[in-house]
Amino acid sequence: MNVEKQYDVVGVGFGPSNLALSIAIEEYNRLSSNKIKALFLESKSDFNWYPDMMLPDSNMQIAFPKDLATFRNPKSEYTFFNYLFEKGRLPDFVNLKSFYPFRVEFADYLKWAAEKIQIPVQYSSKVTTIKQSDNLIDLSYMNRANVQENIRAKNVVIGMGLSPKMPQSIQPGVRIFHNRSILDSIKRVKDFKHNKVAILGAGQSAAEVITYFYSEFPEMEIHTIFSRFGLTPSDSTPYNNQIFDPEIVNDWYATNQETRDLLFNYHKTTNYSAVDEDLINKIYGLQYKDSVINKKRIYMENASVLTECEEKQDSVHLKIKDLFTQNSQELDVDILVCATGFAPTSMKNILSQPEDYSFNGDSPQVTRNYQLELKNNEASSIYLNGCTESSHGFSSTLLSVTAVRAGEILNSIISK
Ligand SMILES: Cc1cc2nc3c(=O)[nH]c(=O)nc-3n(C[C@H](O)[C@H](O)[C@H](O)COP(=O)(O)OP(=O)(O)OC[C@H]3O[C@@H](n4cnc5c(N)ncnc54)[C@H](O)[C@@H]3O)c2cc1C
Repeated sequence: MNVEKQYDVVGVGFGPSNLALSIAIEEYNRLSSNKIKALFLESKSDFNWYPDMMLPDSNMQIAFPKDLATFRNPKSEYTFFNYLFEKGRLPDFVNLKSFYPFRVEFADYLKWAAEKIQIPVQYSSKVTTIKQSDNLIDLSYMNRANVQENIRAKNVVIGMGLSPKMPQSIQPGVRIFHNRSILDSIKRVKDFKHNKVAILGAGQSAAEVITYFYSEFPEMEIHTIFSRFGLTPSDSTPYNNQIFDPEIVNDWYATNQETRDLLFNYHKTTNYSAVDEDLINKIYGLQYKDSVINKKRIYMENASVLTECEEKQDSVHLKIKDLFTQNSQELDVDILVCATGFAPTSMKNILSQPEDYSFNGDSPQVTRNYQLELKNNEASSIYLNGCTESSHGFSSTLLSVTAVRAGEILNSIISK
């Protein structure tokens, strides 16, 4: 293969995880005579962090110093503080007295960093196959012109992130979609004859979608269907929040599965099916205010399950069963938004020989340094940057350890 097409590191996907790695590589290359030749391949046409989930007024669920660099190198020029400084908003941001930026601002920060980085990133390039051959790894991807290209790397770092999770019984359509694509999908709905939306789920995304419809569609009824009795507040109190600290990854990795499962069950409301308490209070306040003026718009279909769901020409027909009474009601809405969570993007499809690697269900086994483990227990040169929750803990699908993990992966690569 043409030597120009051989790299020390190829990153698959260029979201925050691999963006943080590209920053770590760039900073390393500045100081080292032994420069790393790296390339990142991203299937999207440009850098854009969840563009269809940028609901107005939604905030980050994580403190801004857990940015792309600070926890690894607070002196980095890629910190959120330096972004604010360069944008001329540092004093204004500090006057907000908040650790939690608006999501649109954090997305802009990520884009700013992605545009600043000097390491090459090839957009509109979807990796289709990763194949280990001897000490090198062959990658195939579809380029911008939809033509297959092949490159070779000593190390591959997969940062493909999360994919939307839909309930198996629900068939997506024009009027039925996951909240991941909400802003784009809504544009495709031509008419809102019933002036009603249903939201399935009871987590942070579901709650954000409620307030989105409340403010953007002032005449619309909003029905939220969930099996819990109420919305569960997310726990971000300091002792529990320590579960996201970079040092905890060592403890989590070293312990046994029984302990991990126990701690996961104790602390899942730090991240799963839980809503920021201020947002819960805001929604309750809106619902109460509407009851005063006799204009009920927010309907909490709590302790309920969706038993039927069918998309028609101009509506979605729903059957909702109340768990208390076991009675069902039928409801015709204009759209159904499934705020039903995310799961790690499966890698089995792009590994040309998945049977060579150790998997636990769909989750690959990885070393502490995030290398995929081969069946013979050896560490491969394919790294997984993110989505290693069962072995590395809660922080792995979030931004919490993004900067530190990038440094750990880089250290592992350079110490080989
Ligand atoms: C709406 C939303 C809000 C969130 N808010 C927060 C928050 O406030 N705080 C927090 O800590 N976490 C949050 N998260 C969690 C989220 O996982 C992380 O914030 C972060 O995006 C993880 O970065 P990543 O690079 O690992 O994955 P992603 O951001 O998902 O990026 C993966 C990238 O890989 C690309 N890709 C996938 N497959 C291929 C392929 N075959 N070839 C080439 N490219 C590919 C994708 O196009 C994508 O750009 C949020 C998630 C969502 C969905």
